[in-house]
Amino acid sequence: MSSTDGHIDGSGGVDSVALRVLLDGPRREVREHTRAILSRPEFAKPAEPMPTEEYRARVSEWTRMLASTGGPALLFPEEFGGLGRVGDAIAGFETLALSDLSLLVKCGVQFGLFGGAVHHLGSRKHHERYLADIATFELPGSFAMSETGHGSNVQQVQTRATYDPATEEFVIETPTDADRKDFIGNAARDARMAAVFCQLVVGGTERGVHCVLVPLRDGDGQVPAGVRIEDCGHKLGLNGVDNGRIWFDGIRVPRENLLDRYAQVSAEGVYTSPISNENRRFFTMLGTLIQGRISVGGAAISATKAALATAIRHGLRRRQFGPPTPPRRCRCLITASTSGACSRRSRARTRSTSRSRAWWRSSTGSSAPTTARPSKARRSRRRGASSKREQPGSKRSPPGTRRRRSRPAASPAAAPAT
Ligand SMILES: Cc1cc2nc3c(=O)[nH]c(=O)nc-3n(C[C@H](O)[C@H](O)[C@H](O)COP(=O)(O)OP(=O)(O)OC[C@H]3O[C@@H](n4cnc5c(N)ncnc54)[C@H](O)[C@@H]3O)c2cc1C
Repeated sequence: MSSTDGHIDGSGGVDSVALRVLLDGPRREVREHTRAILSRPEFAKPAEPMPTEEYRARVSEWTRMLASTGGPALLFPEEFGGLGRVGDAIAGFETLALSDLSLLVKCGVQFGLFGGAVHHLGSRKHHERYLADIATFELPGSFAMSETGHGSNVQQVQTRATYDPATEEFVIETPTDADRKDFIGNAARDARMAAVFCQLVVGGTERGVHCVLVPLRDGDGQVPAGVRIEDCGHKLGLNGVDNGRIWFDGIRVPRENLLDRYAQVSAEGVYTSPISNENRRFFTMLGTLIQGRISVGGAAISATKAALATAIRHGLRRRQFGPPTPPRRCRCLITASTSGACSRRSRARTRSTSRSRAWWRSSTGSSAPTTARPSKARRSRRRGASSKREQPGSKRSPPGTRRRRSRPAASPAAAPAT
């Protein structure tokens, strides 16, 4: 909102630094730090819309650079390479919304959703194995919850993870096309792993929605057998994020890939959970993801602030009507109006146009209306005729004199005449 001199342009006296300190509130240092990072030249928004692939690559690179500053590590516990400052992480995320919103969403998917699922739904073995790589974007991942046929209704997602005790693996399947994962961030280009929400089936019994880690690509970017991915393509916005659709055609993942904080499956295929009620278990699992909802709300406020600042700056600079204008005197010194148009001249112009039209009709026989001026010769003939009419004793003023109409009352703050 501030100009470079620390004041709102033209507002006279708003101290934007003091205002920013006030609005930043208790986590000011994190917000200042994030803004400083985003104002580096390498984070400059492209001036022109970029081709989608280029834009996605740019947003990926931004995410990697941001991860290298240690910001995302704020989210995760210290013992797993993080900094354990969740409030600061959310304040930093909110501030990101002042920049490119594709970057915000990419970070939200990678660190908040994918990282959040591993952190909150997984156990120590998952934290030790994955969190540090997630925080540095070494392990790009997806949060695969929504299905084409089941968006808000997460409890009814139909992707299945069936336990096979013979191999100690889960078999992941998409039963029908309506059950494919849809609009999954990071899936079309970058993700190497997904936290997949699916119905867990153990020993022939359905146990409700659980989350399983499934590989999406190897180190060379190859999608493994048993997984199909399609690009969601161009969207109305956020085109720097690679959203994709995913089908699982029987890919097998090890038993350890079940994020097992709230439910475990033994090697023999015995299901246990500290929460016996299936509904309660489901809502407890979803509750751990509430951090994402708060973050999205905060980011929306930042984006709104940015929009408000843009609107205020525009309003301060743009003068469409300006203050009321006092009457401006015409060069004829007879009439005046606020627009400066001379009613006497415009009446004369109308008369002249009517005469021109009459002349056109008489000389061409056409009734076509025209605004063509009479020729120079005709105008000079007309001037001669009019001077001949200036006879002594006529009612017109003698040459060199002008009749003056009474002037209209001038505004007290009248500006100089034009
Ligand atoms: C750009 C983008 C990125 C996304 N990224 C991801 C991602 O990374 N991972 C992921 O899992 N998903 C992702 N999604 C999917 C997103 O989470 C879903 O769109 C969302 O869950 C809503 O589901 P839906 O689109 O099927 O809408 P629906 O569930 O069909 O809802 C449609 C409308 O009905 C309303 N509605 C639904 N149920 C009720 C009800 N019971 N009572 C009253 N109103 C109701 C909804 O509020 C909404 O207005 C993404 C979507 C988009 C657009």
